[in-house]
This record gives sequence, structure tokens and C-alpha cells, in this order.
Amino acid sequence: MKILTAAAAFAVLAASPPESDVQWERDYRALPRADSIREFNRRLSAVPHHVGSPGDADNAKWLEQKFREFGLDAKIETFDVLFPTPKERILELVEPAGFRASLVEPPVAGDPTSSQKDLQLPTYNAYSIDGDVTAPLVYVNYGVPADYERLERLGVDVRGKIVIARYGASWRGIKPKVAAEHGALACLIYSDPKDDGYSEGDVYPRGSQRPPAGVQRGSVADMPLYPGDPLTPGVGATAGAKRLDRKDAATLTKIPVMPISYGDAQPLLAALGGPVAPPEWRGALAITYHVGPGPAKAHFRIAFNWKLETLHDVIAKIPGSTWPDEWVIHGNHHDAWVNGSEDPISGLSALLEEARALGDLWKKGWRPKRTIVLCAWDGEEPGLLGSTEWVETHEAELKQKAVAYLNTDSNSAGYLSIDGSHSLEAFANGVAGDIEDPVKKVSAARRVRLKRVEDARTAEERKEIRERADLKIDALGSGSDFTPFLQHAGIASLNLGFGGEGGGGGVYHSIYDDFAWVSRFDDPDFAYGRALSQTTGTALLRLASADLLPFEFSGLAESVAKYVKEIQDLAKEKREATEERNREIEEGLFEATNNPRELLKPPPAQPPVPYFDFSPLENASATLSAAARGYAAALARARAAGKPLEAARAAEVNRLLRGAAPALVQALPLRARLLHGLRRQDPAGRAGAPRREAVEGGCAGSLGHRRGHREGRRADPRRREGAGQLAPTVRYGAIFPARMRS
Ligand SMILES: [Zn+2]
Repeated sequence: MKILTAAAAFAVLAASPPESDVQWERDYRALPRADSIREFNRRLSAVPHHVGSPGDADNAKWLEQKFREFGLDAKIETFDVLFPTPKERILELVEPAGFRASLVEPPVAGDPTSSQKDLQLPTYNAYSIDGDVTAPLVYVNYGVPADYERLERLGVDVRGKIVIARYGASWRGIKPKVAAEHGALACLIYSDPKDDGYSEGDVYPRGSQRPPAGVQRGSVADMPLYPGDPLTPGVGATAGAKRLDRKDAATLTKIPVMPISYGDAQPLLAALGGPVAPPEWRGALAITYHVGPGPAKAHFRIAFNWKLETLHDVIAKIPGSTWPDEWVIHGNHHDAWVNGSEDPISGLSALLEEARALGDLWKKGWRPKRTIVLCAWDGEEPGLLGSTEWVETHEAELKQKAVAYLNTDSNSAGYLSIDGSHSLEAFANGVAGDIEDPVKKVSAARRVRLKRVEDARTAEERKEIRERADLKIDALGSGSDFTPFLQHAGIASLNLGFGGEGGGGGVYHSIYDDFAWVSRFDDPDFAYGRALSQTTGTALLRLASADLLPFEFSGLAESVAKYVKEIQDLAKEKREATEERNREIEEGLFEATNNPRELLKPPPAQPPVPYFDFSPLENASATLSAAARGYAAALARARAAGKPLEAARAAEVNRLLRGAAPALVQALPLRARLLHGLRRQDPAGRAGAPRREAVEGGCAGSLGHRRGHREGRRADPRRREGAGQLAPTVRYGAIFPARMRS
């Protein structure tokens, strides 16, 4: 297939794809079927399939067969990674009264897979260390640094204590990390009903929200340090890889940690004394929330099987006809904490349907010019293991060949969200404009735009949303398998999915995230699964066939300029707030106004915030803006001239375009170090996060919708690694991709 066709000898410079490509895209979008996605989902979520389980290996084998059946070239790549599972879990209240936590999620009626007890992983947090602690309890709200500042003012010290934090407001791995830094001996994390339980709606099985015994499993590895296998940082976890000793694995927690249900948390919280918790700390349990410490005293013991398990990444390819050594990649993980019908199978079954449709299109004569690579990753849940190890193993080849990486994960119903590299903003808008919302029958892009108008707070914001040619997309932080592609290899990436009108986050990472729940509450007719297949497939076709790669930099330059301004504003705000606070301390404001019954101490004085020199950043931003304008003008001139670009020159331009994202990663070591410094200084990464984002979460849907708003408004428990918490890295992640490895 290496013969250059007449069409490919000259690059077409038109703003929209040539009519033949448009027709292939239309043909493609007619192919995905909702009933097919439903059956893939049922099959892939039929039994629990976490890393190392028979269900996981069986799904990988089945996926490989399916890809082959659809005509793709597919194989399984394996890696051996550290994956602990619990062998002993005890949590009991020993004072003032006895209580033993059940730590069990019971089956529910009408949900057949919820009773697969022997195959389910117990409720736990992966990469907690072993431990056995008996100590007084302290309630720390969300367990982020601001909460510890408040505790200090309340005169409560967590040293030598077991802290109990609630899920939300930060990625879960931050909670034990901050707790350990404050001297706590152990950390419990529970799901408060205010965040994703009965306060949000009827609980499962009557409704979709978290039932009293539902528990959110999840990784607590220090992923900002490095994602992937804790024993093989920076290199693929292949059979012969050099492995760290477990005691030297820096991403394991420093203290033992375990997640619990609100059913198990209630007696612990009810037994606390000490000050009444501040109003914004109170959840929806029928108790008066106290902070402690004590008189509640708990005994917490946890021990793990520290085993190496085998990952199975399934990699399928459709060869490119013109540029086989340029890859357009789409990945979605296949491992789950339990049955995972939503997370990740809703996204994976849409990817599999995309493979089926692409196979059909191939039979009709379509040939992509670039190679399309479809990946079903293993081990995403414990720590982005499968994608990270694969990227580390193939890094040199990826840097040569990868054009772009598309990621999907859980898919729900509602608004199309696309986050990612700003160089793909115009491209993402183009794709979203061609996708029809399956319920509202308007384009996905239009629906998002109108939603943004509805959510805007000022007339100025509404004006911009209505008049700007493209909807802005948000930068990616971390949290799913795009991380190694974007942050490590510097490959332009997008993360896509529908959300905001599904079942919400109440069964996230529990045994109830299963086919019964998804088909009742989340995407009952799998119409949004079909829409996702149409969206990602359209994006793949367009990227794989474009003579001139659809990277544009005006949106990027505009966003960078905006971020530079935000950093300056932040420094100013922090400086003024610190000055004001220190002045209030000096004038005795806190002593004079504190309610004597509440025992709130004045906050400690803070060192003044220095003045920073932002001129290098401003100059770089101006240079970037000028270059982006230059490229846009050259492109417009070439289009106006109507002359096609010679193939060799197009290839050279494409090479430069592809190199832009990695160059940005490499050009900013200082920036990365600065970000790293910020993160070290403020482990929750709140430095730089606007307050709203820190509290509500930045799981921001981008082409519009902010998932956090409807699906767990205040603290979306589904928020993953990063988003909004590692704020500076996250918010500027796609712009200044921090190299997480030092
Ligand atoms: Zn997932």
C-alpha cells in the first residue's frame, strides 16, 4: 500500500476535508450500533476483572479475538507489575464503646452480578502500606492542607492519631499524603452521603446514588511523583527489567490507609468529641459532626499480599496506506475495580464498536493514510500501569511515530466533554460540530455552547461564548491513560466522553458499578455509547487522512497568555491576602472577635509573598502568539491561493507540526521544576487553584460541561488523579507539561 495516490502527492489545504473524506466520515458514522455496544458491555462486565484476576486475562483474550474478527491486526503485550491485594483488614472502635466495621458491600436484589462475592476484590486502597495502629480518631473534613490549618486554629493536633477524611475536594492519594506530613499514624477515607449518597438522590437499587455500605476503592499511590508500576519508574516493567526493592518504592504511602462506607463511618464519627466541626465540614449523616481527638479510639490493621501480577495490554492496528509510520492512537482501559460496567467498560465497548465499524469501512474500500492504533489498557485503576509501561517500553518509537493520542474512559450521558492539548482545539471543535446529540438532535458542539451560555455568570462571558469561533477546551492534568502520552512523551492528546445527565458518581469503584446499574440509570439505551463511537471514530478518520495535520496554535497562544495573566493575578491576590491577614493578626482582630465558646485560635502570621519577575514568561508568551499568528496567516494565504502543497513539503510541515508538542515539553525544564516545587510546598497542590475549583473540583468537562456540577456538585467523588487538585500542574498541564519524573 505504499504507492502514493494522485490525491496524496499533493496536500490539500482546504479548511475542511475533501469531499471523499467527508463521505467516508459520514459512512463511518452510520455504522456504530447501540445494541452492539450493549452486548459488548454485558460481556465485558459479566464478572469482576481487576488486574491479576481470571476475568481480566479472559477479557484481554476476548478483545484480541474481537479485534481480529473485525479485520484488525491485534496482539497482547504483557508486563509484570507490583499489585497488592489485602489479606487482612480490621477496623474497630475500641473506646468509648465497641463496634466492628463490616467492610463488606452486600449484594442487592435485582442485580445479579452484585452477588459474585468470591470474585470481588475486597474494599481497599491500592499501594497503602501494611500497618497496625490503635489511636484516637480525628475528623479532618476533606483532608486537604486548608483543613489542617483550620484544625490548628481549633487547637487539634493529628500527631499520633488516626485521621478520618471524606472523599472529595482532592484526589484520594493526597489525603494520606497530607495526613502523614502532619504526623498522623493512619488514614481512613469514607464517602459522605452529602457528596454522593442519599443527599443527592435515592440510593441504589431504588435510585443511582451510593447505598450505606457502598465503598469507593481506588489507588493512593503518589502518582504525581511518577505513574505506573512502583517498582520500575521510567522503564517498562518487562520480564528482564531492573526492579526496585519494595522498601525503596517512593510511590507507596507513608501510612496505612483504607476506604470505608458511610455505614461503617457513622459510629466512628458519632463517637467523636472535641469541638463541633465548622459548618462547611458537616456532611449529611444524622449526627452532630465533631472533630475530636477522641474519646473515640480505633484499632486499624491492614496487611497485603505483595505480589507481582501480569498486565495484558491489547494493541490493534489498521495499517496506513500512505504514511504507515505515522500513528493516530486511541486507548481506553479494560481493567476495573470490580465489574466496572461504567468505569471503564462504557468507554471500552464504544471503542470496540469503533473497531467493528472501522473494519466494515475497510471492507468497503476505505484506507487510512496513517496507521490507526487502538489500545485496550490493563491496570489503569491501580496507577495507569498498562499505558505507562507501554509508553515507557516504546518511547523512542512513539516519539518518532505518534501524531496524536485520543483517550476515553467512563462514558455516561449528556454533554460532550473534550479536554486536551490546545493545539487540537480547533480540530476538537470541528469534530464536535459533526456529531449529533442522540436525544436533542442538535450538534454536540451546539448543545455544549448553549449550556455554557446558560452557566455563564456575566454578560461579558455570554458574549464571548456566543461570538468566539471555537469553544475553549481545558488543559488535561492527569487521571487516566493519556497521562504518559501527554506528560511523559509530550504527544498531543485529547480526552473525550459524554456526561452530566447519567447516574452520577454514587457507585464509582464499588461492586454496584455493573451492567444492571448502567442499563437502568446511566445510558439505558446506550445511545451515548454510540455517540462516543461516532465522535472518536470521526476524530481518528480525520487525523489519519489529513494531508496537512489539523494542528493550530492560535487557541494555544491565547490560552497560554491567559494562564500567564492568571499566575500574575494569583501572585497579587496572595500577596494582598497575606498582607491583610498579617495586619489583622497584628491588630488583634481574631482575639477580639472570636466567640469565646468556640475556642478558635488566631491563625499564625505568614511570610510575605515576594514580587516575581514574570517578564521571561510574558516574552515567551508574546513570541508564541506571534508565531501562531504567522502560521495562521501563512495557512490562510496558501488556502486562498488554492494551490495544493507538494507532498514532500507537506510531509516536512507535518513533521514540524508533530514536533511542536514534544518541543514544548523539552523546552520547559525550568517551568516543570517550578511546578514541581509548588507541588512539594503544597501537597494538595492548592497553590494556584482558584477556590471554586479546589472545592468543586476541576473534573471539568470541557467542550463545556463541568461534570462536577451535576454529578456530585460540591465534591465529585469521581474526580481522578489531578484534575483541579494538583492545580498548577493540572491547569497548565497541556501547556507546560510538567515532567513528573525529576
Ligand atoms: Zn476508568
